[in-house]
Amino acid sequence: MLPVEKKCIFCGEKPVDKNKEHVLPKWLLELSGDPKRVVNQGIDWKTGSNRFFSADQFVFPACSGCNSFYADYLESDAKRIIEKLTKHEPVTCADYKILLDWFDKVRIGLWLGFRYLNKNHLGIKPNFHIDQRLGTKDRLLVCYPYNKDDRGITYIGTDSPLFSVMPSTLGIRINNLIFINVSADYLVSSRLGFPYPKVSEIKKADNNMFSIGDFRKKNSITYPVFPFKFHKPFIYIAQAKTTWDIFQFTQPMYSKPPILGNFYINNKDIGSNIFDVLASKFRYDEEFIELGEIKLKEARMAWLLFLQVFELQEYLKENAFFKQELPKEFIGLHNHIKKLFKNQY
Ligand SMILES: [Zn+2]
Repeated sequence: MLPVEKKCIFCGEKPVDKNKEHVLPKWLLELSGDPKRVVNQGIDWKTGSNRFFSADQFVFPACSGCNSFYADYLESDAKRIIEKLTKHEPVTCADYKILLDWFDKVRIGLWLGFRYLNKNHLGIKPNFHIDQRLGTKDRLLVCYPYNKDDRGITYIGTDSPLFSVMPSTLGIRINNLIFINVSADYLVSSRLGFPYPKVSEIKKADNNMFSIGDFRKKNSITYPVFPFKFHKPFIYIAQAKTTWDIFQFTQPMYSKPPILGNFYINNKDIGSNIFDVLASKFRYDEEFIELGEIKLKEARMAWLLFLQVFELQEYLKENAFFKQELPKEFIGLHNHIKKLFKNQY
């Protein structure tokens, strides 16, 4: 088993001028109740029982520079956006781009945070931290209303070994909203008409590095843009992303539809405009997305909505662009946790 090194949650280096970063930001703990409240922080793998401690004690080492960079760049906007959504007010697509960055941060933060908390019981070596992962891969976000009056935060799927191996799918309930966030390589690129590689192979000799090449693209949008069938949400957005390195040699493809006019380059941040899945179209940054209507017959119990997180983790295990072989016991443990989760409801 690998020891858990004290590395900065953002840059992955030994923390400079060390301080502590809340895995979930303080404003979110305040928005969702008393920050000192005792909450369920997932399963303690040593004892097999649920772990409880004060919400504001879930902290992780970070450089003070990294910490304040993200505080300035993301957190105040994320707070404004989440507050609007909890009032069921629409936000712009520019806001959704920020929100997707914020979910990248939260998802990877929780992944590293739980690994740290569990003393890395699965022996997983993280090959990226927040800096390297934020905004680099395709992503989507669905959101449901949660019709209960109590404020609070519930993590969904974070205890599964599938999340430990592939931190791609996160479910989180924040007060009256349930979010499901998915991010992985080429999750929606091909279906949105963006360049995607044909070849992928895992080079065992080269520290399991993936190799990709032979980029191509489709000339129209393929529906559904993501094949997993969600229960009807009231927000559903998707975005194709790429990196500067890959953009260098796929650039000529960006002059053809449906990408043409539907992507942006902002420094080295490159991606599609926000795709509004419920309306089946790309939208510009200044456009608001109205929250969709969920008819009574389309509404589902919260636990059924939560369960989708586990199902998505299973779906990606089978269908991810880069598939990984997993030990059998991981699948068994995943099913066990899913059952425990179901029994709570
Ligand atoms: Zn740092």
